Amino acid sequence: MITGKISKITGPVVVAQSMLGARMYDVVRVGQEGLMGEVIRLEGDLATIQVYEDTSGLTIGDVVKSTEGPLMVQLGPGLLSSIYDGVQRPLPVIAEQHGDFIERGTVADALDRERKWAFEPVAEVGQQVAGGDVIGTTPEGQTILHKIMVPPKTKGTVSWVAPAGEYTVDEVVAKMEDGTELTMVQEWAVRQGRPYVRKLDPTHPFTTGMRILDTFFPIALGGNAIIPGGFGTGKTVTQQSLAKWADVDIIVYVGCGERGNEMTEVLTEFPELEDPRTNAPLMDRTVLVANTSNMPVAAREASIYVGATLAEYYRDMGYSVAMMSDSTSRWGEALREISGRLEEMPGEEGYPAYLATRLASFYERSGRVQPLGSDAERVGSVTMVGAVSPAGGDMSEPMTQNSLRVSGAFWALDTSLAHRRHFPAISWTKSYTLYLGQVGQWYAENVADDWNELRDRAMFILQKETELQEIVQLVGPDALPESEKIILEVARMLREDFLQQFAFDDIDAYCPPKKQYWMLKTVLTFYDAATSALNRGVSLRQILELTIKDEIAVMKTTPHDEALEKLPAFNLKLTEDIAEIEVY
Ligand code: ADP
Ligand code: MG
Repeated sequence: MITGKISKITGPVVVAQSMLGARMYDVVRVGQEGLMGEVIRLEGDLATIQVYEDTSGLTIGDVVKSTEGPLMVQLGPGLLSSIYDGVQRPLPVIAEQHGDFIERGTVADALDRERKWAFEPVAEVGQQVAGGDVIGTTPEGQTILHKIMVPPKTKGTVSWVAPAGEYTVDEVVAKMEDGTELTMVQEWAVRQGRPYVRKLDPTHPFTTGMRILDTFFPIALGGNAIIPGGFGTGKTVTQQSLAKWADVDIIVYVGCGERGNEMTEVLTEFPELEDPRTNAPLMDRTVLVANTSNMPVAAREASIYVGATLAEYYRDMGYSVAMMSDSTSRWGEALREISGRLEEMPGEEGYPAYLATRLASFYERSGRVQPLGSDAERVGSVTMVGAVSPAGGDMSEPMTQNSLRVSGAFWALDTSLAHRRHFPAISWTKSYTLYLGQVGQWYAENVADDWNELRDRAMFILQKETELQEIVQLVGPDALPESEKIILEVARMLREDFLQQFAFDDIDAYCPPKKQYWMLKTVLTFYDAATSALNRGVSLRQILELTIKDEIAVMKTTPHDEALEKLPAFNLKLTEDIAEIEVY
Protein backbone atom coordinates (compact mmCIF):
# COMPACT_ATOMS: atom_id res chain seq x y z
CA MET A 1 0.00 0.00 0.00
CA ILE A 2 1.22 3.48 -0.81
CA THR A 3 1.73 5.32 2.48
CA GLY A 4 3.16 8.80 2.70
CA LYS A 5 3.45 11.68 5.13
CA ILE A 6 1.99 15.17 5.10
CA SER A 7 4.65 17.74 4.22
CA LYS A 8 2.45 20.83 3.74
CA ILE A 9 -1.10 21.95 4.56
CA THR A 10 -2.89 24.93 3.03
CA GLY A 11 -6.59 24.90 3.82
CA PRO A 12 -8.30 22.08 1.93
CA VAL A 13 -5.09 21.26 0.05
CA VAL A 14 -2.44 18.99 1.50
CA VAL A 15 0.90 17.87 0.06
CA ALA A 16 2.20 14.42 0.96
CA GLN A 17 5.67 12.99 0.37
CA SER A 18 6.76 9.39 -0.27
CA MET A 19 3.74 8.88 -2.48
CA LEU A 20 5.57 7.24 -5.38
CA GLY A 21 3.18 5.07 -7.36
CA ALA A 22 0.09 7.13 -6.59
CA ARG A 23 -2.00 8.09 -9.60
CA MET A 24 -3.98 11.20 -10.45
CA TYR A 25 -7.44 11.20 -8.87
CA ASP A 26 -6.68 8.29 -6.57
CA VAL A 27 -8.63 8.57 -3.35
CA VAL A 28 -6.48 8.85 -0.25
CA ARG A 29 -7.11 8.79 3.49
CA VAL A 30 -5.40 11.62 5.31
CA GLY A 31 -4.30 11.73 8.96
CA GLN A 32 -5.40 9.71 11.97
CA GLU A 33 -9.05 10.23 11.23
CA GLY A 34 -8.65 9.07 7.65
CA LEU A 35 -10.11 12.21 6.04
CA MET A 36 -11.11 11.59 2.48
CA GLY A 37 -9.20 13.30 -0.32
CA GLU A 38 -8.25 13.00 -3.96
CA VAL A 39 -4.82 13.31 -5.61
CA ILE A 40 -4.89 16.28 -7.96
CA ARG A 41 -1.19 16.75 -8.77
CA LEU A 42 1.88 14.51 -8.84
CA GLU A 43 5.49 15.67 -8.88
CA GLY A 44 8.20 13.13 -8.12
CA ASP A 45 7.15 11.47 -4.90
CA LEU A 46 5.00 14.45 -3.89
CA ALA A 47 1.24 14.13 -4.19
CA THR A 48 -1.01 17.17 -3.86
CA ILE A 49 -4.36 16.23 -2.41
CA GLN A 50 -7.65 18.07 -2.22
CA VAL A 51 -9.33 17.01 0.98
CA TYR A 52 -13.11 16.69 1.10
CA GLU A 53 -13.33 17.25 4.82
CA ASP A 54 -12.26 19.93 7.26
CA THR A 55 -8.48 19.73 7.55
CA SER A 56 -8.12 21.54 10.86
CA GLY A 57 -6.13 19.48 13.33
CA LEU A 58 -3.95 17.85 10.68
CA THR A 59 -0.21 18.27 11.24
CA ILE A 60 2.96 17.85 9.22
CA GLY A 61 4.11 14.24 9.36
CA ASP A 62 0.59 12.77 9.64
CA VAL A 63 0.11 9.61 7.64
CA VAL A 64 -1.51 9.57 4.18
CA LYS A 65 -2.68 6.29 2.70
CA SER A 66 -3.75 5.76 -0.87
CA THR A 67 -6.75 3.56 -1.56
CA GLU A 68 -5.16 3.06 -4.99
CA GLY A 69 -8.38 3.69 -6.80
CA PRO A 70 -10.43 6.68 -7.97
CA LEU A 71 -13.57 8.08 -6.33
CA MET A 72 -16.30 5.57 -7.03
CA VAL A 73 -20.04 5.63 -6.50
CA GLN A 74 -22.15 2.66 -5.63
CA LEU A 75 -25.01 2.08 -8.01
CA GLY A 76 -27.95 -0.13 -7.15
CA PRO A 77 -31.46 -0.15 -5.70
CA GLY A 78 -31.91 2.27 -2.84
CA LEU A 79 -30.43 5.34 -4.52
CA LEU A 80 -33.83 6.90 -5.02
CA SER A 81 -35.08 8.81 -2.00
CA SER A 82 -31.54 8.96 -0.62
CA ILE A 83 -29.84 12.13 0.50
CA TYR A 84 -26.09 12.05 0.06
CA ASP A 85 -23.23 14.34 0.75
CA GLY A 86 -20.73 15.23 -1.98
CA VAL A 87 -18.94 11.89 -1.77
CA GLN A 88 -22.11 9.76 -1.60
CA ARG A 89 -22.27 9.29 2.14
CA PRO A 90 -25.91 9.14 3.22
CA LEU A 91 -27.06 12.13 5.23
CA PRO A 92 -29.74 11.50 7.75
CA VAL A 93 -32.85 13.47 6.91
CA ILE A 94 -32.88 16.14 9.55
CA ALA A 95 -34.69 19.36 9.75
CA GLU A 96 -33.40 21.55 12.48
CA GLN A 97 -29.78 20.48 12.63
CA HIS A 98 -27.07 22.77 11.23
CA GLY A 99 -23.45 22.06 10.64
CA ASP A 100 -21.90 18.69 11.24
CA PHE A 101 -24.03 15.92 9.95
CA ILE A 102 -21.20 13.49 9.70
CA GLU A 103 -18.11 12.89 11.79
CA ARG A 104 -14.92 13.54 9.91
CA GLY A 105 -13.38 10.49 8.28
CA THR A 106 -16.64 8.59 8.36
CA VAL A 107 -16.95 5.71 5.96
CA ALA A 108 -20.60 5.02 5.32
CA ASP A 109 -22.27 2.71 2.86
CA ALA A 110 -24.18 4.52 0.22
CA LEU A 111 -26.66 1.68 -0.08
CA ASP A 112 -28.40 -0.12 2.74
CA ARG A 113 -26.68 -3.49 3.09
CA GLU A 114 -29.43 -5.11 5.16
CA ARG A 115 -32.50 -4.18 3.22
CA LYS A 116 -34.02 -6.88 1.02
CA TRP A 117 -35.25 -6.18 -2.46
CA ALA A 118 -37.79 -8.22 -4.43
CA PHE A 119 -35.71 -9.52 -7.33
CA GLU A 120 -37.41 -10.75 -10.48
CA PRO A 121 -35.06 -12.58 -12.89
CA VAL A 122 -35.02 -11.57 -16.54
CA ALA A 123 -31.87 -13.19 -18.00
CA GLU A 124 -31.87 -16.93 -18.70
CA VAL A 125 -29.25 -19.59 -18.23
CA GLY A 126 -27.19 -19.99 -21.38
CA GLN A 127 -27.88 -16.41 -22.50
CA GLN A 128 -24.89 -14.41 -23.64
CA VAL A 129 -24.86 -11.06 -21.92
CA ALA A 130 -22.70 -7.95 -22.00
CA GLY A 131 -22.63 -4.52 -20.39
CA GLY A 132 -26.08 -2.99 -20.05
CA ASP A 133 -28.06 -6.22 -20.42
CA VAL A 134 -30.73 -6.60 -17.80
CA ILE A 135 -30.41 -9.65 -15.59
CA GLY A 136 -33.34 -8.85 -13.37
CA THR A 137 -35.52 -6.11 -11.97
CA THR A 138 -36.69 -4.87 -8.62
CA PRO A 139 -39.31 -2.24 -7.88
CA GLU A 140 -37.77 0.85 -6.36
CA GLY A 141 -40.47 2.99 -4.81
CA GLN A 142 -43.90 2.97 -6.38
CA THR A 143 -43.15 4.08 -9.88
CA ILE A 144 -39.65 3.03 -10.85
CA LEU A 145 -38.60 -0.44 -11.91
CA HIS A 146 -34.91 -0.68 -11.13
CA LYS A 147 -33.08 -2.69 -13.76
CA ILE A 148 -30.17 -4.74 -12.52
CA MET A 149 -27.75 -4.45 -15.41
CA VAL A 150 -24.52 -6.19 -16.32
CA PRO A 151 -21.77 -3.63 -15.55
CA PRO A 152 -20.31 -1.92 -18.64
CA LYS A 153 -17.09 -3.86 -18.97
CA THR A 154 -18.43 -7.33 -18.11
CA LYS A 155 -19.61 -10.01 -20.53
CA GLY A 156 -20.13 -13.75 -20.63
CA THR A 157 -22.62 -16.56 -20.67
CA VAL A 158 -25.12 -16.78 -17.84
CA SER A 159 -24.75 -20.04 -15.89
CA TRP A 160 -27.15 -19.29 -13.05
CA VAL A 161 -29.77 -16.69 -12.20
CA ALA A 162 -31.32 -16.32 -8.78
CA PRO A 163 -34.97 -17.30 -8.60
CA ALA A 164 -37.51 -14.61 -7.82
CA GLY A 165 -37.20 -13.66 -4.20
CA GLU A 166 -35.91 -11.22 -1.64
CA TYR A 167 -32.21 -10.39 -1.71
CA THR A 168 -29.89 -7.84 -0.23
CA VAL A 169 -27.75 -5.81 -2.63
CA ASP A 170 -24.71 -7.90 -1.74
CA GLU A 171 -26.22 -11.30 -2.48
CA VAL A 172 -25.26 -12.89 -5.77
CA VAL A 173 -28.15 -12.81 -8.23
CA ALA A 174 -26.39 -14.16 -11.32
CA LYS A 175 -23.28 -16.13 -12.25
CA MET A 176 -21.40 -16.42 -15.50
CA GLU A 177 -19.70 -19.50 -16.92
CA ASP A 178 -16.29 -17.97 -16.23
CA GLY A 179 -17.15 -17.70 -12.55
CA THR A 180 -18.01 -13.99 -12.50
CA GLU A 181 -20.67 -13.27 -9.92
CA LEU A 182 -23.08 -10.38 -10.16
CA THR A 183 -24.91 -8.69 -7.32
CA MET A 184 -27.39 -5.84 -7.47
CA VAL A 185 -24.61 -3.27 -6.92
CA GLN A 186 -22.03 -1.97 -9.32
CA GLU A 187 -19.45 0.76 -8.93
CA TRP A 188 -18.33 3.50 -11.25
CA ALA A 189 -15.53 6.08 -11.15
CA VAL A 190 -17.31 9.41 -11.04
CA ARG A 191 -15.04 11.50 -13.19
CA GLN A 192 -15.63 9.29 -16.19
CA GLY A 193 -18.91 9.35 -18.09
CA ARG A 194 -20.64 5.98 -18.30
CA PRO A 195 -20.44 4.51 -21.81
CA TYR A 196 -23.39 4.19 -24.20
CA VAL A 197 -23.91 2.86 -27.71
CA ARG A 198 -24.65 6.16 -29.43
CA LYS A 199 -26.02 9.60 -28.94
CA LEU A 200 -29.43 10.25 -30.48
CA ASP A 201 -30.76 13.50 -31.87
CA PRO A 202 -32.41 15.57 -29.17
CA THR A 203 -35.81 15.76 -30.85
CA HIS A 204 -38.19 15.36 -27.91
CA PRO A 205 -38.89 18.40 -25.78
CA PHE A 206 -38.11 18.53 -22.09
CA THR A 207 -41.56 19.68 -21.06
CA THR A 208 -41.54 21.84 -17.97
CA GLY A 209 -45.04 23.31 -17.74
CA MET A 210 -43.47 26.77 -17.53
CA ARG A 211 -44.77 28.83 -20.40
CA ILE A 212 -41.69 30.99 -20.90
CA LEU A 213 -39.55 27.87 -21.11
CA ASP A 214 -41.75 25.52 -23.14
CA THR A 215 -43.11 28.07 -25.57
CA PHE A 216 -40.28 30.56 -25.88
CA PHE A 217 -37.04 28.82 -24.94
CA PRO A 218 -37.66 25.08 -25.02
CA ILE A 219 -34.89 22.56 -24.62
CA ALA A 220 -34.79 18.94 -25.66
CA LEU A 221 -34.70 15.84 -23.51
CA GLY A 222 -30.99 15.20 -23.22
CA GLY A 223 -30.23 18.86 -23.74
CA ASN A 224 -28.86 21.30 -21.24
CA ALA A 225 -29.57 24.79 -20.07
CA ILE A 226 -28.13 27.24 -17.62
CA ILE A 227 -30.09 29.58 -15.36
CA PRO A 228 -27.90 32.52 -14.46
CA GLY A 229 -29.28 35.06 -12.06
CA GLY A 230 -28.35 37.30 -9.17
CA PHE A 231 -29.41 36.68 -5.61
CA GLY A 232 -33.16 36.31 -5.15
CA THR A 233 -34.08 36.23 -8.83
CA GLY A 234 -35.56 32.73 -8.72
CA LYS A 235 -32.87 30.15 -9.48
CA THR A 236 -33.88 27.83 -6.69
CA VAL A 237 -37.63 28.26 -7.15
CA THR A 238 -37.23 27.52 -10.87
CA GLN A 239 -35.09 24.44 -10.32
CA GLN A 240 -37.52 23.11 -7.76
CA SER A 241 -40.46 23.73 -10.09
CA LEU A 242 -38.61 21.81 -12.76
CA ALA A 243 -37.92 18.98 -10.33
CA LYS A 244 -41.62 18.78 -9.55
CA TRP A 245 -43.11 19.27 -12.96
CA ALA A 246 -40.66 18.40 -15.72
CA ASP A 247 -41.84 15.41 -17.68
CA VAL A 248 -39.01 13.06 -16.69
CA ASP A 249 -38.80 9.85 -14.68
CA ILE A 250 -35.96 10.62 -12.30
CA ILE A 251 -34.57 13.74 -10.65
CA VAL A 252 -31.00 14.14 -9.47
CA TYR A 253 -30.70 17.37 -7.51
CA VAL A 254 -27.25 18.59 -6.56
CA GLY A 255 -27.25 21.35 -4.00
CA CYS A 256 -24.14 23.42 -3.52
CA GLY A 257 -25.36 25.84 -0.92
CA GLU A 258 -24.60 29.51 -1.24
CA ARG A 259 -25.06 30.27 2.42
CA GLY A 260 -25.02 27.90 5.36
CA ASN A 261 -28.75 27.76 5.93
CA GLU A 262 -29.67 27.43 2.28
CA MET A 263 -28.70 23.80 2.15
CA THR A 264 -30.68 23.17 5.31
CA GLU A 265 -33.70 24.58 3.49
CA VAL A 266 -33.25 22.16 0.63
CA LEU A 267 -32.84 19.29 3.06
CA THR A 268 -36.03 20.18 4.88
CA GLU A 269 -38.12 21.26 1.92
CA PHE A 270 -37.33 18.58 -0.58
CA PRO A 271 -38.48 15.60 1.44
CA GLU A 272 -41.81 17.39 1.89
CA LEU A 273 -42.44 18.03 -1.79
CA GLU A 274 -45.20 15.99 -3.30
CA ASP A 275 -45.03 14.48 -6.75
CA PRO A 276 -47.96 16.29 -8.32
CA ARG A 277 -48.65 13.44 -10.72
CA THR A 278 -48.77 10.60 -8.22
CA ASN A 279 -49.23 12.41 -4.89
CA ALA A 280 -46.39 10.24 -3.60
CA PRO A 281 -43.36 11.99 -2.09
CA LEU A 282 -41.23 13.52 -4.84
CA MET A 283 -38.25 11.85 -3.14
CA ASP A 284 -39.54 8.47 -4.39
CA ARG A 285 -37.98 9.30 -7.73
CA THR A 286 -35.30 11.71 -6.58
CA VAL A 287 -31.72 11.47 -5.42
CA LEU A 288 -30.48 14.48 -3.50
CA VAL A 289 -26.78 15.28 -3.33
CA ALA A 290 -26.14 18.04 -0.84
CA ASN A 291 -22.94 19.72 0.17
CA THR A 292 -23.21 20.32 3.83
CA SER A 293 -21.72 23.47 5.20
CA ASN A 294 -19.06 21.58 7.14
CA MET A 295 -17.57 20.21 3.95
CA PRO A 296 -14.83 22.28 2.37
CA VAL A 297 -14.88 23.57 -1.16
CA ALA A 298 -13.24 20.51 -2.71
CA ALA A 299 -16.30 18.40 -2.00
CA ARG A 300 -18.37 20.58 -4.33
CA GLU A 301 -16.51 19.24 -7.29
CA ALA A 302 -17.04 15.66 -6.16
CA SER A 303 -20.76 16.30 -5.74
CA ILE A 304 -21.12 17.48 -9.33
CA TYR A 305 -19.52 14.30 -10.64
CA VAL A 306 -21.38 12.05 -8.22
CA GLY A 307 -24.65 13.61 -9.42
CA ALA A 308 -23.76 13.14 -13.09
CA THR A 309 -22.88 9.48 -12.53
CA LEU A 310 -26.12 8.75 -10.68
CA ALA A 311 -28.03 10.41 -13.51
CA GLU A 312 -26.24 8.35 -16.15
CA TYR A 313 -26.95 5.14 -14.27
CA TYR A 314 -30.73 5.67 -14.46
CA ARG A 315 -30.36 6.85 -18.05
CA ASP A 316 -28.75 3.49 -18.78
CA MET A 317 -31.90 1.73 -17.56
CA GLY A 318 -33.84 3.64 -20.19
CA TYR A 319 -35.19 6.44 -18.05
CA SER A 320 -35.28 10.13 -18.69
CA VAL A 321 -33.40 11.90 -15.95
CA ALA A 322 -33.13 15.57 -15.11
CA MET A 323 -30.10 16.72 -13.20
CA MET A 324 -30.29 20.10 -11.49
CA SER A 325 -27.23 21.78 -10.04
CA ASP A 326 -27.78 24.71 -7.71
CA SER A 327 -25.45 26.49 -8.00
CA THR A 328 -22.61 25.59 -10.36
CA SER A 329 -20.96 28.86 -9.38
CA ARG A 330 -20.04 27.32 -6.03
CA TRP A 331 -18.21 24.61 -7.94
CA GLY A 332 -16.44 27.24 -10.04
CA GLU A 333 -15.37 29.03 -6.87
CA ALA A 334 -14.00 25.78 -5.51
CA LEU A 335 -11.95 25.33 -8.67
CA ARG A 336 -10.68 28.86 -8.27
CA GLU A 337 -9.72 28.36 -4.65
CA ILE A 338 -7.96 25.05 -5.24
CA SER A 339 -6.18 26.43 -8.28
CA GLY A 340 -5.00 29.39 -6.21
CA ARG A 341 -3.65 27.10 -3.53
CA LEU A 342 -1.82 25.13 -6.20
CA GLU A 343 -0.32 28.41 -7.38
CA GLU A 344 -1.40 27.69 -10.92
CA MET A 345 -1.28 30.39 -13.55
CA PRO A 346 -4.63 32.11 -13.08
CA GLY A 347 -6.99 32.80 -15.97
CA GLU A 348 -9.77 35.36 -15.99
CA GLU A 349 -10.67 36.75 -12.56
CA GLY A 350 -8.53 34.14 -10.86
CA TYR A 351 -10.44 31.18 -12.27
CA PRO A 352 -8.19 28.44 -13.62
CA ALA A 353 -7.50 28.38 -17.33
CA TYR A 354 -9.14 24.95 -17.53
CA LEU A 355 -12.50 26.25 -16.26
CA ALA A 356 -13.95 26.15 -19.77
CA THR A 357 -12.88 22.56 -20.44
CA ARG A 358 -14.17 21.40 -17.05
CA LEU A 359 -17.55 22.93 -17.74
CA ALA A 360 -17.62 21.53 -21.26
CA SER A 361 -16.86 18.01 -20.11
CA PHE A 362 -19.54 18.27 -17.44
CA TYR A 363 -22.34 19.43 -19.76
CA GLU A 364 -21.11 16.88 -22.28
CA ARG A 365 -22.49 14.21 -19.96
CA SER A 366 -26.02 15.27 -20.80
CA GLY A 367 -27.63 13.66 -23.82
CA ARG A 368 -30.28 11.38 -25.19
CA VAL A 369 -28.67 8.03 -25.89
CA GLN A 370 -29.12 4.44 -26.79
CA PRO A 371 -27.60 2.88 -23.67
CA LEU A 372 -25.42 -0.21 -23.61
CA GLY A 373 -27.26 -3.51 -23.88
CA SER A 374 -28.68 -5.73 -26.59
CA ASP A 375 -32.08 -4.04 -26.32
CA ALA A 376 -31.70 -1.57 -29.16
CA GLU A 377 -35.08 0.00 -28.36
CA ARG A 378 -33.96 1.32 -25.01
CA VAL A 379 -33.55 5.09 -24.93
CA GLY A 380 -32.44 7.10 -21.94
CA SER A 381 -31.59 10.70 -21.40
CA VAL A 382 -29.88 13.05 -19.01
CA THR A 383 -31.08 16.64 -19.22
CA MET A 384 -28.98 19.10 -17.26
CA VAL A 385 -30.07 22.41 -15.83
CA GLY A 386 -27.36 24.34 -14.04
CA ALA A 387 -27.95 27.45 -12.00
CA VAL A 388 -25.21 30.07 -12.15
CA SER A 389 -25.01 32.85 -9.58
CA PRO A 390 -22.98 35.75 -10.94
CA ALA A 391 -22.13 38.22 -8.21
CA GLY A 392 -24.40 41.25 -8.50
CA GLY A 393 -26.13 39.63 -11.46
CA ASP A 394 -23.25 40.63 -13.73
CA MET A 395 -23.46 38.12 -16.56
CA SER A 396 -20.13 39.05 -18.08
CA GLU A 397 -18.25 37.16 -15.36
CA PRO A 398 -16.27 34.02 -16.32
CA MET A 399 -18.58 31.32 -14.89
CA THR A 400 -21.61 32.65 -16.76
CA GLN A 401 -19.69 33.29 -19.95
CA ASN A 402 -17.96 29.92 -20.00
CA SER A 403 -21.16 28.03 -19.12
CA LEU A 404 -23.01 29.88 -21.82
CA ARG A 405 -20.55 28.73 -24.44
CA VAL A 406 -21.09 25.06 -23.70
CA SER A 407 -24.80 24.97 -22.94
CA GLY A 408 -27.66 24.73 -25.38
CA ALA A 409 -29.95 27.23 -23.75
CA PHE A 410 -29.62 30.33 -21.66
CA TRP A 411 -32.50 31.15 -19.32
CA ALA A 412 -31.38 34.51 -18.04
CA LEU A 413 -32.96 35.73 -14.83
CA ASP A 414 -33.43 39.44 -14.79
CA THR A 415 -33.03 41.36 -11.54
CA SER A 416 -35.34 44.17 -12.63
CA LEU A 417 -38.13 41.70 -13.47
CA ALA A 418 -37.69 40.09 -10.05
CA HIS A 419 -37.87 43.52 -8.41
CA ARG A 420 -41.11 44.21 -10.25
CA ARG A 421 -42.25 40.79 -9.04
CA HIS A 422 -42.62 39.54 -12.57
CA PHE A 423 -42.09 35.81 -11.98
CA PRO A 424 -40.59 33.71 -13.35
CA ALA A 425 -38.09 36.55 -13.84
CA ILE A 426 -36.70 34.95 -17.00
CA SER A 427 -35.83 37.60 -19.54
CA TRP A 428 -37.38 37.18 -22.99
CA THR A 429 -34.88 39.55 -24.50
CA LYS A 430 -31.67 38.01 -23.16
CA SER A 431 -32.56 34.31 -23.10
CA TYR A 432 -32.10 31.98 -26.05
CA THR A 433 -32.23 28.33 -27.01
CA LEU A 434 -30.45 26.33 -29.68
CA TYR A 435 -33.05 23.52 -29.64
CA LEU A 436 -35.87 25.36 -31.35
CA GLY A 437 -35.33 23.74 -34.73
CA GLN A 438 -35.45 20.26 -33.26
CA VAL A 439 -38.25 20.53 -30.74
CA GLY A 440 -40.24 23.02 -32.82
CA GLN A 441 -41.06 20.15 -35.15
CA TRP A 442 -42.31 18.03 -32.27
CA TYR A 443 -44.57 20.86 -31.16
CA ALA A 444 -45.87 21.32 -34.70
CA GLU A 445 -46.69 17.61 -34.93
CA ASN A 446 -47.99 17.05 -31.41
CA VAL A 447 -49.47 20.34 -30.29
CA ALA A 448 -50.43 22.49 -33.27
CA ASP A 449 -49.27 23.14 -36.83
CA ASP A 450 -48.90 26.83 -36.25
CA TRP A 451 -47.04 26.52 -32.91
CA ASN A 452 -43.78 27.88 -34.35
CA GLU A 453 -45.53 30.70 -36.16
CA LEU A 454 -47.40 31.83 -33.03
CA ARG A 455 -44.23 31.71 -30.99
CA ASP A 456 -42.38 33.87 -33.51
CA ARG A 457 -45.19 36.39 -33.69
CA ALA A 458 -45.38 36.67 -29.91
CA MET A 459 -41.62 37.16 -29.68
CA PHE A 460 -41.86 39.82 -32.35
CA ILE A 461 -44.55 41.71 -30.46
CA LEU A 462 -42.47 41.65 -27.29
CA GLN A 463 -39.43 42.94 -29.13
CA LYS A 464 -41.51 45.63 -30.74
CA GLU A 465 -42.74 46.64 -27.28
CA THR A 466 -39.16 47.22 -26.15
CA GLU A 467 -38.58 49.56 -29.09
CA LEU A 468 -41.88 51.37 -28.61
CA GLN A 469 -41.22 51.88 -24.92
CA GLU A 470 -38.13 53.88 -25.77
CA ILE A 471 -40.25 56.18 -27.87
CA VAL A 472 -42.90 56.39 -25.17
CA GLN A 473 -40.26 57.46 -22.70
CA LEU A 474 -39.28 60.31 -24.97
CA VAL A 475 -42.62 61.58 -26.23
CA GLY A 476 -45.28 59.93 -24.08
CA PRO A 477 -47.82 57.25 -25.08
CA ASP A 478 -50.27 59.63 -26.75
CA ALA A 479 -47.87 60.29 -29.58
CA LEU A 480 -48.17 56.70 -30.78
CA PRO A 481 -50.67 55.76 -33.49
CA GLU A 482 -53.40 53.28 -32.50
CA SER A 483 -51.69 50.51 -34.51
CA GLU A 484 -48.77 50.79 -32.12
CA LYS A 485 -50.80 51.31 -28.99
CA ILE A 486 -52.44 47.97 -29.65
CA ILE A 487 -48.97 46.40 -29.75
CA LEU A 488 -48.28 47.78 -26.31
CA GLU A 489 -51.59 46.43 -25.06
CA VAL A 490 -51.00 42.97 -26.53
CA ALA A 491 -47.42 42.91 -25.22
CA ARG A 492 -48.76 43.69 -21.77
CA MET A 493 -51.14 40.73 -22.12
CA LEU A 494 -48.27 38.51 -23.20
CA ARG A 495 -46.22 39.55 -20.19
CA GLU A 496 -48.91 39.52 -17.54
CA ASP A 497 -51.38 36.94 -18.79
CA PHE A 498 -49.00 34.54 -20.48
CA LEU A 499 -45.40 34.83 -19.27
CA GLN A 500 -46.05 35.55 -15.61
CA GLN A 501 -46.66 32.30 -13.83
CA PHE A 502 -46.87 31.97 -10.09
CA ALA A 503 -44.94 28.89 -8.99
CA PHE A 504 -47.06 28.47 -5.87
CA ASP A 505 -50.49 28.63 -7.52
CA ASP A 506 -52.36 25.31 -7.46
CA ILE A 507 -53.40 25.52 -11.06
CA ASP A 508 -50.86 27.79 -12.68
CA ALA A 509 -47.75 26.08 -11.27
CA TYR A 510 -47.92 23.76 -14.25
CA CYS A 511 -49.36 24.61 -17.64
CA PRO A 512 -49.66 21.75 -20.16
CA PRO A 513 -48.32 22.51 -23.66
CA LYS A 514 -51.77 22.41 -25.29
CA LYS A 515 -53.04 25.00 -22.84
CA GLN A 516 -49.95 27.12 -23.43
CA TYR A 517 -50.73 27.02 -27.12
CA TRP A 518 -54.37 28.03 -26.69
CA MET A 519 -53.49 30.83 -24.30
CA LEU A 520 -51.00 32.22 -26.77
CA LYS A 521 -53.36 31.75 -29.68
CA THR A 522 -56.10 33.61 -27.85
CA VAL A 523 -53.91 36.64 -27.24
CA LEU A 524 -52.86 36.69 -30.88
CA THR A 525 -56.42 36.18 -32.10
CA PHE A 526 -57.30 39.23 -30.06
CA TYR A 527 -54.44 41.13 -31.67
CA ASP A 528 -55.57 40.20 -35.19
CA ALA A 529 -59.21 41.00 -34.54
CA ALA A 530 -58.29 44.29 -32.89
CA THR A 531 -55.96 45.26 -35.74
CA SER A 532 -58.60 44.71 -38.37
CA ALA A 533 -61.13 46.65 -36.32
CA LEU A 534 -58.67 49.54 -35.99
CA ASN A 535 -58.25 49.43 -39.76
CA ARG A 536 -62.01 49.84 -40.12
CA GLY A 537 -61.83 52.98 -38.03
CA VAL A 538 -62.84 51.52 -34.65
CA SER A 539 -60.97 53.14 -31.78
CA LEU A 540 -58.77 51.21 -29.38
CA ARG A 541 -60.85 52.51 -26.49
CA GLN A 542 -63.95 50.79 -27.93
CA ILE A 543 -62.08 47.48 -28.12
CA LEU A 544 -60.72 47.72 -24.63
CA GLU A 545 -64.18 48.46 -23.26
CA LEU A 546 -65.19 44.87 -24.02
CA THR A 547 -64.66 42.25 -21.29
CA ILE A 548 -62.31 40.25 -23.51
CA LYS A 549 -59.18 41.37 -21.74
CA ASP A 550 -60.57 40.25 -18.39
CA GLU A 551 -61.39 36.87 -19.83
CA ILE A 552 -57.86 36.62 -21.19
CA ALA A 553 -56.48 37.45 -17.75
CA VAL A 554 -58.22 34.51 -16.07
CA MET A 555 -57.07 31.89 -18.59
CA LYS A 556 -54.04 30.89 -16.56
CA THR A 557 -55.94 30.15 -13.37
CA THR A 558 -58.78 28.34 -15.17
CA PRO A 559 -58.49 24.57 -14.64
CA HIS A 560 -56.67 23.05 -17.61
CA ASP A 561 -59.47 20.88 -19.00
CA GLU A 562 -62.00 23.62 -18.67
CA ALA A 563 -59.68 26.08 -20.40
CA LEU A 564 -59.00 23.69 -23.25
CA GLU A 565 -62.71 23.19 -23.71
CA LYS A 566 -63.58 26.88 -23.66
CA LEU A 567 -60.72 28.59 -25.46
CA PRO A 568 -61.45 27.47 -29.08
CA ALA A 569 -65.02 28.82 -28.82
CA PHE A 570 -63.80 31.93 -27.04
CA ASN A 571 -61.44 32.64 -29.94
CA LEU A 572 -64.37 32.61 -32.37
CA LYS A 573 -66.52 34.68 -30.08
CA LEU A 574 -63.98 37.39 -29.42
CA THR A 575 -63.35 37.72 -33.15
CA GLU A 576 -67.08 38.16 -33.74
CA ASP A 577 -67.54 40.56 -30.87
CA ILE A 578 -64.76 42.80 -32.12
CA ALA A 579 -66.01 42.55 -35.70
CA GLU A 580 -69.41 43.75 -34.52
CA ILE A 581 -68.15 46.95 -32.96
CA GLU A 582 -69.63 49.83 -34.86
CA VAL A 583 -67.58 52.73 -36.10
CA TYR A 584 -68.73 56.12 -34.89
P1 ADP B 1 -32.28 32.57 -5.91
O1 ADP B 1 -32.16 31.09 -5.75
O2 ADP B 1 -32.01 33.02 -7.32
O3 ADP B 1 -31.49 33.35 -4.92
P2 ADP B 1 -35.02 32.07 -5.16
O4 ADP B 1 -35.30 30.98 -6.13
O5 ADP B 1 -34.80 31.68 -3.76
O6 ADP B 1 -33.80 32.96 -5.67
O7 ADP B 1 -36.22 33.10 -5.29
C1 ADP B 1 -36.36 34.21 -4.44
C2 ADP B 1 -37.83 34.56 -4.25
O8 ADP B 1 -38.43 34.98 -5.47
C3 ADP B 1 -38.69 33.38 -3.82
O9 ADP B 1 -38.68 33.20 -2.44
C4 ADP B 1 -40.07 33.76 -4.31
O10 ADP B 1 -40.70 34.64 -3.43
C5 ADP B 1 -39.78 34.56 -5.56
N1 ADP B 1 -39.98 33.75 -6.79
C6 ADP B 1 -39.02 33.33 -7.63
N2 ADP B 1 -39.56 32.66 -8.67
C7 ADP B 1 -40.89 32.64 -8.49
C8 ADP B 1 -42.00 32.11 -9.21
N3 ADP B 1 -41.86 31.45 -10.37
N4 ADP B 1 -43.23 32.31 -8.72
C9 ADP B 1 -43.40 32.99 -7.57
N5 ADP B 1 -42.42 33.51 -6.84
C10 ADP B 1 -41.17 33.35 -7.27
MG1 MG C 1 -31.02 29.89 -4.54
